[in-house]
Amino acid sequence: MSAKVPIFPTSTFLFKTAEDGERFFHLQYHPDDRLDDEDQGLIYSRMNNPNMEIVEDKMIVMDPGAEAAAVLPSGMSAISTMCFALLKPGDVIIYSAPVYGGTEHLFDSVLSKFGITAIPICSPDLDEYRKQADQHKNKLAMIFIETPANPTIAQTDIAGVVEIARRHRGTNGKVLVVVDNTFLGPVFQNCFSPGADLAIYSSTKFIGGHSDLIGGFVSGAQREIQAIKSYRSVLGATTDPFCCWLMSRSLETLELRMRKCAENAMKIALFLAGHPKVDKVIYPGLLQKCDPQYEIYQKQCSGPGSLISFYVKGGKQEAFRMLNNVKVCRLAVSLGGTETLIEHPRRMTHSEVPEEMCQKVGLTDSMIRISVGIEDPQDLIEDLGQALERM
Ligand code: PLP
Repeated sequence: MSAKVPIFPTSTFLFKTAEDGERFFHLQYHPDDRLDDEDQGLIYSRMNNPNMEIVEDKMIVMDPGAEAAAVLPSGMSAISTMCFALLKPGDVIIYSAPVYGGTEHLFDSVLSKFGITAIPICSPDLDEYRKQADQHKNKLAMIFIETPANPTIAQTDIAGVVEIARRHRGTNGKVLVVVDNTFLGPVFQNCFSPGADLAIYSSTKFIGGHSDLIGGFVSGAQREIQAIKSYRSVLGATTDPFCCWLMSRSLETLELRMRKCAENAMKIALFLAGHPKVDKVIYPGLLQKCDPQYEIYQKQCSGPGSLISFYVKGGKQEAFRMLNNVKVCRLAVSLGGTETLIEHPRRMTHSEVPEEMCQKVGLTDSMIRISVGIEDPQDLIEDLGQALERM
């Protein structure tokens, strides 16, 4: 018997009997008919595969409060499949802004084609959420928050948003609260204790952790996850067995990696905050008690993570000069890997975010985002220092 889980590279599975095949298909489309100790049955790898099931089971354990989890082939696939499974034409969703550029594009340009209206809230102020929720109460189906937000690291009060959602019955009897927990979770932030319904992850980031795969997860209540799995199968949003296996392996070191990255990030944040060519540093570990974000951080996070955004003195030219001079940090988008990645959100990951929204949320040309890895922090500090000097 192998000590590690094997990989099951097969497109289809043999049925012992035709009756088994009939029953497995029935259960695939009518999961509620499954008896307590009955096996769902393996059919075809677009629908299920042992590696998919193993990584989902591990994810449930890693994300306390989740009844179920669905693995998807990217973070965007997790968000879009979740939206298509749980929303319908006429629905309204409210979302925190900014969100990752791809999510913004989905909400702003794709969902609108299906008659779904997405309303951005460009401030963590709960009064704004309350106002919009009241105004759209009969059509409101979901509140989606990305906290901390990419790339402003702004935090939204999960429990506060849940409280607003619970005041309304929405279009489905319940206004769902969905949290994109990619930046801190599941190690430093749990979405279910403050009452969220679903957590989203781009597992391309910390969960995969080595910048060598693209993947995503939704975890949460059984009912919604079952609906997402059913859409996943129809949309063909399948994750291949090897990718599932890689994520299962990576989940074993997730906490170790995230803690080491955060320890390094604190040192980098302190260095940047004291540098004369840096205007401002945004990092939860540096929040002061007088900042309203501090209270949210204390309430819902158990660690600051390893994403830092900072503003250099100057504009695009200075920021680009700095980026073009890093040697240890890698100039690339993405985050959450073992190596430090540095990028320019306004012209890269968030280049499609409307100008007006960028201005409202402080997404300017002088902003640089850094995802701190597990390298020697002194090497990173020296590298950032020499790049800032050449700015
Ligand atoms: N959510 C957040 C917060 C992200 O940062 C990203 C990507 O950077 C995504 C979702 C999308 O994930 P993926 O690239 O795996 O589709």
